[in-house]
Amino acid sequence: MTAPTWLERGVLIVGGGIAGLTLAGALQRIGVNCQLAERSDTWAPVGAGIILGVNAMAVMRRFDLAHDLEDQAWALEGMTITDAKNRHLIRTNLAELRPRFGISLALHRAVLHEALLSAASDVPIRMGTTVDSLEETGESVRARFSDGSEDSFALVVGADGLHSQIRSLIFGDVPLRYSGYTCWRMVVESDEMEASAQEMWGRGKRFGAVHIDAQRIYCFAVVNAEAGRPDPAPGRLQRLRQQFSEFAGPVPSLLASLKEPDQLIQNDLYEVLHTPWYRGRVVLVGDAAHGMTPDMGQGAAMALEDIAVLIESLETTDSPADALGAWATRRTARVRWIQNQSRRIGQVGQWESRLACALRNQVTRATPAWAATRVLKALASQRV
Ligand SMILES: Cc1cc2nc3c(=O)[nH]c(=O)nc-3n(C[C@H](O)[C@H](O)[C@H](O)COP(=O)(O)OP(=O)(O)OC[C@H]3O[C@@H](n4cnc5c(N)ncnc54)[C@H](O)[C@@H]3O)c2cc1C
Repeated sequence: MTAPTWLERGVLIVGGGIAGLTLAGALQRIGVNCQLAERSDTWAPVGAGIILGVNAMAVMRRFDLAHDLEDQAWALEGMTITDAKNRHLIRTNLAELRPRFGISLALHRAVLHEALLSAASDVPIRMGTTVDSLEETGESVRARFSDGSEDSFALVVGADGLHSQIRSLIFGDVPLRYSGYTCWRMVVESDEMEASAQEMWGRGKRFGAVHIDAQRIYCFAVVNAEAGRPDPAPGRLQRLRQQFSEFAGPVPSLLASLKEPDQLIQNDLYEVLHTPWYRGRVVLVGDAAHGMTPDMGQGAAMALEDIAVLIESLETTDSPADALGAWATRRTARVRWIQNQSRRIGQVGQWESRLACALRNQVTRATPAWAATRVLKALASQRV
């Protein structure tokens, strides 16, 4: 492709997470000049695992990245849901989706980061840099960087995550919606788990464990809690083990294999429900635009789809208004649907009442297996 003339001044990407790095690699592929500003001074170790569902992998194939990942990831056959005592409730059969939609992968986030970074290897990256102000000047946007320098761009993309500074610069203070629960993630060395992926539902808590390779298991532990509750390093492992002490199956041995408090990564889980997602020549993608709860494992998938559609919109339109308008029109309904589904799944998964949880588990146990893959099939069948 020849870059549309309006993009000749280049693109500034703010944030080098999954969305920002994917966009940098995709623009590099189609010959659009871009640069990326990342707040961190160095790439911090990316500690946890991630599931890339069938739709995320479809984007990876589009950008020729799937192959690199498949070699270093675990192909998911299914996800078993049990109660806290490890009694079977239902199983989502992902292998069944494979012939039509391809595979879902579970992998270490560091593997994904490396693949995205290497696909963007020619893009200049300004580490330790943020954007202090943005000013639209008709034909471009002038950005003032935190190091005092300034430059003009045809388009600025805010890929700076849930607490996006670019969002604040263009829309002011946007309140986030707190889910009511917090999550600890960890990767442990273990080959003791039977199922390749399992989520266990307790009362007001859930525990998930997913193989990311033959020796390592990515775990997440979700608990109802007020936002911002401190979790100091001394006693952190002990407190987590205590919170999940009634959980059976693989949980006791997985938690026992934790050695250091900093193996745990904690996030209070928020959503971003603001619209619109762009103003003039500045657009938000990924969590900056539509952060969601991780209950469907779709946040990164939605970020990846954002980029695939944005690239198509840039290629097929000849003004920022047309490109960003077309992009937002194609993305909004799908993203909101996933955000809503994810929130509902999380709310039911976090129920606390003994009666409600017993009923939930009974209904889930009685649900036919095909119903568990229904949403995923719908998700994969829709044109992105
Ligand atoms: C517990 C949990 C589990 C999850 N599991 C899954 C899963 O299995 N599958 C899935 O698809 N999704 C999952 N997600 C969601 C997924 O992690 C996010 O949707 C995804 O990381 C969003 O990518 P992003 O690039 O938009 O934002 P981020 O990954 O947050 O990246 C933002 C980047 O911008 C940088 N930055 C921040 N502020 C600035 C600034 N002011 N200037 C410059 N740079 C800045 C940050 O340092 C970072 O590098 C999960 C999320 C959580 C919390």
